[in-house]
Amino acid sequence: MKLKAPFPREDADALDTIAFPEPGTVRRGNLRFSHPDLADWSWPYTVVRGASDGPQVALISGVHPAEYPALESNIRFTRSLDPARLSGTVVSLPVIDVPAFLPRSPFVCPIDGKNPNRFFPGDPNGTFTDVMDDAVFRAVIAPADALIDLHGGDMVEALVPFSIYSVSGNDDVDARSLALARAFGLRYIVAARPQPGAIGGTTAHAAPAAGVPSIIAEAGSSGLLTEPETQTLVEGIANALRSLGMLDGEPRKFDTIEIGQFSWLRSPAEGMWYPSVATGDHVLADQSVGRIGNLWGDTLAEISAPHDGVVLFITSAPAMPHDGLIMAIGETDESG
Ligand SMILES: [Zn+2]
Repeated sequence: MKLKAPFPREDADALDTIAFPEPGTVRRGNLRFSHPDLADWSWPYTVVRGASDGPQVALISGVHPAEYPALESNIRFTRSLDPARLSGTVVSLPVIDVPAFLPRSPFVCPIDGKNPNRFFPGDPNGTFTDVMDDAVFRAVIAPADALIDLHGGDMVEALVPFSIYSVSGNDDVDARSLALARAFGLRYIVAARPQPGAIGGTTAHAAPAAGVPSIIAEAGSSGLLTEPETQTLVEGIANALRSLGMLDGEPRKFDTIEIGQFSWLRSPAEGMWYPSVATGDHVLADQSVGRIGNLWGDTLAEISAPHDGVVLFITSAPAMPHDGLIMAIGETDESG
């Protein structure tokens, strides 16, 4: 597929790695990569280098570029960040899956149809998405002391704000990831544990495996640029940086709820999806949460909750393939 590369910029200046500007200054430019598969594309970046030393944070969004509050909060926070008040360095890339941005492609890179958040840390010998993930991982994620990866409900998803961190088995890194999630302050925190059927290859899996504490922070829904969710993410980023000692001020403490079991429900039939619960609802085991119908109005399947919990996201589009993701339920201490 031939796609037009967005984001031309005269001062495209970085190849494979991003050089930092002088302390107390900002650099904006485009990152390019020498891998031939990536030659047509460039990645807008901003480096805010604080006047004093401190950690290096990778602040990324647009691994799924139709998650607009994630993109906007990254752009807005980074643009407003004063290097004179910063200790350390923030490396911001608002859009990772650049080929998906203008086509407004949900979930997948339109060049090879792969979801970039299943293939980190990437592979320089794979298809486009593998190569892109590898290049971004090396340039931006691996060198960082912490990673904040902003997401939200994609074009066809509604969700309540939550953070995910991966339990990698490295206790020190995992404790830092959890501390970052608590500081970010979204109400629910999902610990992604290795288990049968669990997804892998997310930034939150790959970064801790390379020793980089990380969170995925999710807010916003259904392809909409909404201000409350954008603000929530901006405030989360600021508080996370405060917790790392990069910005002045005492970090705010939030009431967060940690999710034990996180179940993704999939559709047993293709057809129309009719949820009977909303995001944020608390459900009981075996409670009906919706049904799948066919195009003649017959009910094909009733969907019920596998356990007590809170509905963290729902596929908001009715068109539902067989085995399609329909919702996620997280088990909490407050359930039931
Ligand atoms: Zn996403």
